[in-house]
Amino acid sequence: MNRENKRKQYENGYYKTHACNDTFLCKVCGRQVFPDGAGSEHRNHCPNCLSSLHVDVEPGDRASDCGGIMDPVAVWVRKNGEWAIIHRCRRCGALSSNRVAADDNPMKLMSIAMKPLSAPPFPIERIEEMTALMGGEGRMK
Ligand SMILES: [Zn+2]
Ligand SMILES: [Zn+2]
Repeated sequence: MNRENKRKQYENGYYKTHACNDTFLCKVCGRQVFPDGAGSEHRNHCPNCLSSLHVDVEPGDRASDCGGIMDPVAVWVRKNGEWAIIHRCRRCGALSSNRVAADDNPMKLMSIAMKPLSAPPFPIERIEEMTALMGGEGRMK
C-alpha cells in the first residue's frame, strides 16, 4: 500500500463509518484488547480497567494529537437507560463521554458509579443535622 492510500484510509471521520477492528494492548493495565465482544462499532476503551487514550475530538474521529491516558472518572445514564463513561485526559484534562461496551468490567463500572456515595464531601453521620438545617424532614421521629 502506498503512502497516499494509507493516509486516505485514516482520514478524519474514517472510524465513524468503519468499524474499528484494531487489537491493542491497554497502556494502563496491560491487557490485550480484542475488538470482538464490544457489542458496538467502536472499542474506545479497555474493557478491564475502562481506561482510554485521548485520540478523538469527536467519538471515533481519531482527530486529537494529545495521546494522553484517559481515566474513567464517572458514569451517567442516558435517556434510553444506557450507561456511558466520562473519561478525563491525564495530560490535557479533556472530558469525553463514551458508551459502555457489552463486555466492560461490571464491577469497575459499579465502583465508579458508587464512588461519590462512598466518599461523600461531608461527614455521613451528620446528614440528619444538615437536613434539619435545610428545613427538610430528615429527622428520626
Ligand atoms: Zn486496561
Ligand atoms: Zn488529552
